[in-house]
Amino acid sequence: MSRLWVVLKAYRWLLPVMMLGLSACGSDNDDDFGGGNGGGQVGESKLTVLVVVIDSLMPEEIGAALTPTPALVGLRDSGTFYNESRSVFSAETIPNHVAMMTGVYPGSNGIPTNTYWNRMGALEDRDLSLPTEVEVDNLFTRIKNECPNLRTAAIMSKDYLYEVFSGCGFSGEDCGRNVEPDIHFDPTGDLTFLPSPAGLTPDLTTMGQALTALPDVDFMFVNLGQVDRTGHADETGNLGVPLLRNTVLLETDIRISMLIDELQAQGRWEDTVLFIVSDHGMDWSLPLDFINAQATLDGIGGLAAIQSGGTDSIFLTDQSERGTTAGHQRLKAARDALLGVTGVADVWYVEPNPEDPGSEKQLSSVFDSAHENIGDLVLSAEDGYRFSDPGPQDNPIPGNHGHEVTLHNTFLIGGGASFIKAQTIAEADEPVSHLERRPGQSENVDVAPTVAWLLGMSQNGFDGRVLSEAFSLSASPSQCGFLPE
Ligand SMILES: [Zn+2]
Repeated sequence: MSRLWVVLKAYRWLLPVMMLGLSACGSDNDDDFGGGNGGGQVGESKLTVLVVVIDSLMPEEIGAALTPTPALVGLRDSGTFYNESRSVFSAETIPNHVAMMTGVYPGSNGIPTNTYWNRMGALEDRDLSLPTEVEVDNLFTRIKNECPNLRTAAIMSKDYLYEVFSGCGFSGEDCGRNVEPDIHFDPTGDLTFLPSPAGLTPDLTTMGQALTALPDVDFMFVNLGQVDRTGHADETGNLGVPLLRNTVLLETDIRISMLIDELQAQGRWEDTVLFIVSDHGMDWSLPLDFINAQATLDGIGGLAAIQSGGTDSIFLTDQSERGTTAGHQRLKAARDALLGVTGVADVWYVEPNPEDPGSEKQLSSVFDSAHENIGDLVLSAEDGYRFSDPGPQDNPIPGNHGHEVTLHNTFLIGGGASFIKAQTIAEADEPVSHLERRPGQSENVDVAPTVAWLLGMSQNGFDGRVLSEAFSLSASPSQCGFLPE
């Protein structure tokens, strides 16, 4: 079977994604706006804070030769843009959305990867999206507790992102510590939802839902997934210019302009802060540039690989070996062998290994992402490589992320509020190593503390920081969203 056929078969949903994206759509949400956003009184001014994630968008794709993206360029050039922003590790979708909304790194919030084994029963992989796995309060819960007058919404295009911000998961029985946003769009219930492996609604639908929710919300979190899903399947990414993905990005830019137009039509633009962020970047691999770690592990025995594209999680299949000498020796044998495999950049222990000491061998020495949900051993791919596990045919797709090169993400703070500064936050020695997190740059964990600050809320328990350099203010502009008269 040709590689193209394998990819097309795996991504047969792509055509409808693109066709839907290319159809024109206007907002049907032109009702008179009474003012006050959600829960306010007519005549009171309230801040509107929106965080829109363009899934996997890379900063250099904004305004590139083939992607003029006028709406994004306008926001970038009139707002604060960070040249060297960073995702959390792993550079996957669920970890980074949870990091944005909790302001806490994955090692403490419980969501360090996209796919995992819960270490119970027979080994099987599943999405790390159950609300029960989130170990800290997210922004929706904090807002509910501190500023119950504020109205919130989450409009996520992807099924697992809906689930991780739900109260009790798709089962209705996996109830976690967090409350659901006031408005929570379930993409799986929409007629345009494309089931797994796509698992998303097109941007046309997603932005339509966001515009419908807009009149009633003060804070909204949106994920537009179409650029990412197209990028995964885009063979032309290997040529340096992902043509399918770029076509979709032009369409996504139109959706952003619709959001701006609607905020202006509702008279809210001057009181709006609009974050445009990506969860991670994207990297493309040639057909034969895959790593089948399971083949190496089978020579040792007792180990299983669960792949997330650019990263791989290795689990001891017999969990009673965890913390024992036998388990440590098995993991050491795996690490030694995998370091010799072409395309493997890093192999880190999640827990200290007395049989193979050394802080540099610990995941925690590089990232705040050591947690049992990411496995017993974590692998990261070289640029241009992907993991395919358990079998060499199990991941044929060219576009992948999770690994180092995809930690560089898009981060800008724009909007119509007069206190937003127009500037680019640059480093003198760019490009900076993807492993570095510079103190003056943004990270995805900075989203929640910055939103909380804008809304006049507390900063307790965040790992991230308030990106105060983006604003010409010495204190929060609002009290629970209410602006001074
Ligand atoms: Zn993503």
